[in-house]
Amino acid sequence: MRIGVPREIKNHEYRVGLTPASVQELVGHGHALLVEAGAGEAIGYHDELYRQAGAELVACDQVFSDSDLVIKVKEPQAEERLRLRPGQTLFTYLHLAPDPAQTHDLLASGATCIAYETVTDAAGRLPLLAPMSEVAGRMAIQAGASCLEKAHGGRGVLLGGVPGVPQGRVVILGGGVVGSNALAMAVGLGAQVQVLDKSADVLRRLDAQYGNRIQTLYATNSAVEDVLLQADLVVGAVLVPGASAPRLISAEMVSRMPSGSVLVDVAIDQGGCAETSHATTHDDPTYIVDGVVHYCVANMPGAVARTATQALNNATLPFVLALANQGVAAALRADPHLANGLNVSRGALCNREVGASLDLPV
Ligand code: NAD
Repeated sequence: MRIGVPREIKNHEYRVGLTPASVQELVGHGHALLVEAGAGEAIGYHDELYRQAGAELVACDQVFSDSDLVIKVKEPQAEERLRLRPGQTLFTYLHLAPDPAQTHDLLASGATCIAYETVTDAAGRLPLLAPMSEVAGRMAIQAGASCLEKAHGGRGVLLGGVPGVPQGRVVILGGGVVGSNALAMAVGLGAQVQVLDKSADVLRRLDAQYGNRIQTLYATNSAVEDVLLQADLVVGAVLVPGASAPRLISAEMVSRMPSGSVLVDVAIDQGGCAETSHATTHDDPTYIVDGVVHYCVANMPGAVARTATQALNNATLPFVLALANQGVAAALRADPHLANGLNVSRGALCNREVGASLDLPV
C-alpha cells in the first residue's frame, strides 16, 4: 500500500503522523512511504532520517495525490480536506462532533475517515487518546511546579521541600489517566499528595498502588473544598465522557484558596473544572484570579511534541499496520475496535454520537 505523511499545517502543531521508526517498520512490511519534505523537521526528525528509513521525500501535493492511506495528527484543515479523494483513507484525530464544516467537507470528499479518538479497546477505553492524557498528566506537575515559583506569580514553594521544611501539597481531582500520571510525578518529586475521585474503584486502585504514601478521598463537595483551602497545587483531571467537565471548584472557593497557589486545569479541553477557568495557549499559558495562578492550556502535549509524537506512534502503529497489511476494508471487518474509529465512509456518516450532535443521519 502507498502510505502518505503530510507536514502538519495547523498553527503551532509540531507533531508528525509517523516517526522514522514507524516508517521503517511499514517499509519492512513491503509498503511504499511518501513523506512530505520537512514533515518532522521541527522535532528533530530530519528528512535524512526518513530517507534512511526507506521513505520517499515528496511535496505535499504528491503525498495526497499518490497515497492510498494518509496518516496525520490533527484534523485536516480546510485546504487539506480539498485534497482528499474517493478511494483514499485518512487516519488521524478528527473531533467531528463540534465541527460541522469539517464534517461536511469530509462527507463531500468521498474518502474513508477513521478517527483516532473513537477507536476503542476490549475494556471500552480509548487507546489512541490515552497517550495524550499520559503526557498531559505528567506535564501538569512540571507546569504547576514552575508556576509555584515567585517569578511566575506563585507562592514560592518547592514541591519536594528540603530536609527540615515541609513538602508542597498537591491535590489531584480525578484519578483516571491524567490524574494517575500526575500522581506518579508528584510522588516522584516528593510532594504530599491527595487524590479525589467519585469512583470507588479508582480510589481502591490508587490506594493499593501507593498505600499510605498518598491520601485518597471520595470527591464530595465538602471534601473538595477542604483540600483546596490547604493546597499549593491543584490539578483538574476529571472527565465525564461525552459531557462538559463537572464544575467542582466555584469562584468563591478560588477566592479562599491561598494566595500564590496554582490551579492546572487539564480538563479545560472539556470546559474546565473551575468556574474561573478559561482556555489559554502555550504563548501565554497563565493568568491570575484572586491571587491563584491558573494554567489552562488546552493542548498541553503540543509543548513536548517529540515525546507526544513517539507516544502517539506507539499507540497508532499497530492499527496502521493492520490497515496497510490487511487492506482497509478487511482490517475494519476484522477488528470491531478499529471499526469504532470509522467516522465517515464514502460520503456517509458512520458515528452515532457525531450524527446526534450535528443532527445528521448516520
Ligand atoms: P479519565 O476518564 O481517564 O479520568 C477521569 C476521572 O475523573 C475518572 O476517574 C472519573 O471517575 C473522574 N471523575 C468524573 N467526575 C468526577 C467528579 N465529579 N469528581 C471527581 N472525579 C470525577 O480521563 P483522562 O484521560 O484522565 O482525561 C481527563 C481530562 O483531561 C479530560 O477532559 C481530557 O480531555 C483532558 N485532557 C486534556 C489535555 C490538555 O492538553 N489540556 C490533554 C489530554 C487530556
